[in-house]
Amino acid sequence: MIFDGHSDILYGINRWRQRGETHVFQRRYLPWFQRSGIEGGIFVLWVNPENGLPASVQIQQQIQALQSELQEGADNLLMLRTAEDLEEAMLLQKIYFILGAEGLDGYVQDATCIDWLYEQGVRHVGLTWNHANGFAGGVYSDNGLTEEGMRAVKNINQKKMLLDVSHLNDKSLRDALRIADGPVIASHSNSRRLCDVPRNLTDDQIKAIASTGGVVGINSHPPFVHTEKEKQNLEHLANHLIHMAELAGTEHIGFGFDLNYWDDSANAEGMEELKQYGQAVPFLHYLKQRGFSGPELRQISRDNFLRMMQYAVV
Ligand SMILES: [Zn+2]
Repeated sequence: MIFDGHSDILYGINRWRQRGETHVFQRRYLPWFQRSGIEGGIFVLWVNPENGLPASVQIQQQIQALQSELQEGADNLLMLRTAEDLEEAMLLQKIYFILGAEGLDGYVQDATCIDWLYEQGVRHVGLTWNHANGFAGGVYSDNGLTEEGMRAVKNINQKKMLLDVSHLNDKSLRDALRIADGPVIASHSNSRRLCDVPRNLTDDQIKAIASTGGVVGINSHPPFVHTEKEKQNLEHLANHLIHMAELAGTEHIGFGFDLNYWDDSANAEGMEELKQYGQAVPFLHYLKQRGFSGPELRQISRDNFLRMMQYAVV
């Protein structure tokens, strides 16, 4: 079974619902999940700066779309808020997720927005997407955490929500790790040593995240796999996992596939061999060929992120 540490599926679901569809998860995505044994994930609220709508509107739409989908698909989809929810998901074999905020653009720019998010059921927070906001600096900026950002991290820790540093720049990431209390994750980032882009992590950052007890999820978004187009493939994606396993151990790595839900055109960007969940099983077989044992693959594909879920739902 597989857990996806980073999914923009709510963006895709909302887009289809805005076009008048209902039961989008059941009709469009559930078959993928079932075919590949995807049992759960972190489903994030994500603001697309290029879609023309204000950030706050995009978030409201996605929350509304999610609520409708949960009502329509209650038999097979469960949002986790508590430990009992996780037990129910395991017992009834429902697909489960925690709701995440991928960046705090579009919310009130002070630490009380964490309270509001928690009330909405959010249990995972990244402070920024790629740009700077009132809390921290993303990879396209160079400032560290602000005062409000520090307060937000404290609030996140007090509520035992998961803090995600994937989109932070180096300075903000260092600040966050310095003050964070509890496991820190980078849900969808690769190794900068193998693919030198700011969205990927240095060896020291990977080790520091592991030392919090956290998890780094490898990302199949092609530009983060390799800087050369012809090397954006499974072989090089697996190289990231192998490198991280050597640095941090197999108990601190996982998958954050970052599949493309924002573009449904025929030529949408994505790695040919891992463009949708239906291709996750061949990837696992390939990782076995590359030397991971069965128990290691269970940790990587599921158990490590499940440990993070158990932390975040109490
Ligand atoms: Zn992202």
